[in-house]
Amino acid sequence: MTMRDIATPTRTKEILKKYGFSFKKSLGQNFLIDLNILGKIVDAAELTKEKGVIEIGPGIGALTEQLSRRAGKVVAIEIDQRLLPILADTLSSYPHTEVVHGDVLEMDLHTLIRDRFNDQEKISVVANLPYYVTSAILMKLLEERLPLENIVVMIQKEVAERIASGPGGKEYGALSVLAQFYAEAEVVTIVPHSVFIPQPNVDSAVLRLRIRNKPAVDVDSEEIFYRVVKASFAQRRKTLSNNLLNNLFGKERKEEMLQIFAKAGIDPARRGETLSLEEFARLSNRISQIFG
Ligand code: SAM
Repeated sequence: MTMRDIATPTRTKEILKKYGFSFKKSLGQNFLIDLNILGKIVDAAELTKEKGVIEIGPGIGALTEQLSRRAGKVVAIEIDQRLLPILADTLSSYPHTEVVHGDVLEMDLHTLIRDRFNDQEKISVVANLPYYVTSAILMKLLEERLPLENIVVMIQKEVAERIASGPGGKEYGALSVLAQFYAEAEVVTIVPHSVFIPQPNVDSAVLRLRIRNKPAVDVDSEEIFYRVVKASFAQRRKTLSNNLLNNLFGKERKEEMLQIFAKAGIDPARRGETLSLEEFARLSNRISQIFG
């Protein structure tokens, strides 16, 4: 039997026509039709038959198919029920690939991993992410400390560059800090919008996050570290002291907060985007002494 790859313009159009599928923009449905780009995504995840993969948003299975050829087990989570019969058809030659219906943001991924992969398996998350929820999904994957080896995602180019770059610049945000805290971030390749149907308005990039064995800086409490980072970026134009007062301490604790800043050696008039990972760690360690 010859395998006809899904991710060619002809085959994709054939599948869409066969099922009368219409794209839902609200679900970020832009399907990949370029085998070369798919090859780069799959290579970046460094898969072997001993490894497992979670894919988020398989669409009609273009990426899933390539993952299934390289990995020992693939679990693909898809929110759009209309895609389930299509996937059952396009992925029918891959018995080690399972499609799970649901919203990844609502799912208990620890349980999913425990139930579907064995303890020894190294797991990657690989996805061409829907743009409307990129940040929420990446935050969830990082914050929940899932036992992952790496995360390889196609996302909007500017977001990928922001995550991979260090502090500074108006694009630097809570997601960049957490990504660098847990992982080594790298832009693998830039992807033009012409390789999707329908074409999005923006260019994309493939981002790889190699999860570190231990976080990049020592913190006394990871939970407090998240809360400090998130609160620091809650309102972009506000200073650290305003953001932390409104979103962590509460106005009545202003004096106490200013003392913490002084002890940590950080000027409360700075903005979140100017702080390095080490500075966030120093601040959050001081704060965990009172919140911990
Ligand atoms: N992987 C396919 C490809 O590369 O051609 C499709 C990628 S498309 C950009 C994003 C996919 O994610 C769509 O199939 C969409 O229905 C699905 N999706 C959107 N939101 C989701 C969510 N919250 N949970 C799971 N899947 C979601």
